[in-house]
Amino acid sequence: MAATNQDEQQTTTQALRHQEVGHKSLLQSDELYQYILETSVYPREPESMKELREITANHPWNIMTTSADEGQFLNMLLKLINAKNTMEIGVYTGYSLLATALALPEDGKILAMDINKENYELGLPVIQKAGVAHKIEFREGPAMPVLDQMVEDKKFHGSYDFIFVDADKDNYINYHKRLIDLVKIGGVIGYDNTLWNGSVVAPADAPMRKYVRYYRDFVIELNKALAADPRIEICQLPVGDGITLCRRVS
Ligand code: SAM
Ligand code: CA
Repeated sequence: MAATNQDEQQTTTQALRHQEVGHKSLLQSDELYQYILETSVYPREPESMKELREITANHPWNIMTTSADEGQFLNMLLKLINAKNTMEIGVYTGYSLLATALALPEDGKILAMDINKENYELGLPVIQKAGVAHKIEFREGPAMPVLDQMVEDKKFHGSYDFIFVDADKDNYINYHKRLIDLVKIGGVIGYDNTLWNGSVVAPADAPMRKYVRYYRDFVIELNKALAADPRIEICQLPVGDGITLCRRVS
C-alpha cells in the first residue's frame, strides 16, 4: 500500500514537472531538461529573474514566457557579443527583457515594444528593484510602425548590436525586412520559437492546438527565408522552443 502511494506521488510529481517544463523542452526527455535546469540554470539564476519567473508562473498566459535556460542563454550571448544597443519585440512580463537588461553595461539600452503594457507593468517593479530599469525604453503598441519610422531615418541604420524578436509570428518575415537595415553588420537578430512546438515537422493533418496550427506555416516560411538570405549567417538552436540567431554580414 505504501509503495502504491509512493508510486502515485512520483507520478503526480512527474506530471507536474511535465506541465511546468514539457512545452519548453525539445530535448528527448523532460528529465534531461529538468537536469539542466536544476544543475546549471536555477543555481545561477539571479534573484530578480527568479522572482519575475515566479510572478509570471501565476499569470494565466504564462505559456508565453521565456524559459529560465533560454534567459540564461540570452544573458550569456549578450555579454559574449558586448551588446550595448538592443531591441526587443514582444515583452510580456519581461523575463527575457530582464535577462537582457542585466547583461548590458550601465549605459546599455533596450528599446522594448509590446501591444500590452499591463503585463510589462506586472514585472516592472522587479526590474526596477534590480536597478536596470534605466536601460529600458518601453513603447506600447504594435512594433511595425515604429520600425517603419526608424527605417525612414538613416540615423537608425546599422545601429543595433542585438535584436530579440518574440512577438507575432505571422509578421517575422516583415520584421526581418526592416530589422536587417537596423542591425549593424556583425550584429545579431534572434528570432524566437522557430521550431514552433515541434510543429514544423508535424504532418499537416496532425492534431495541433489552434494557435499552433495558425502560426505553423509562417514559421516554416520564415525558416526557409532565413536559410536563403545571403545577408546573414544563421544558427538555429534547440534552446527553448528554438531560436534562430542571424548575424548580419552585408
Ligand atoms: N519575450 C517575452 C518573455 O520573455 O516573457 C515573451 C513575449 S510573448 C511570447 C509575445 C508578446 O508579443 C506578447 O506579450 C504580445 O502582447 C506581444 N505582441 C503581439 N503582437 C505584437 C505586435 N504586433 N507588436 C508588439 N508586440 C506584440
Ligand atoms: Ca518565445
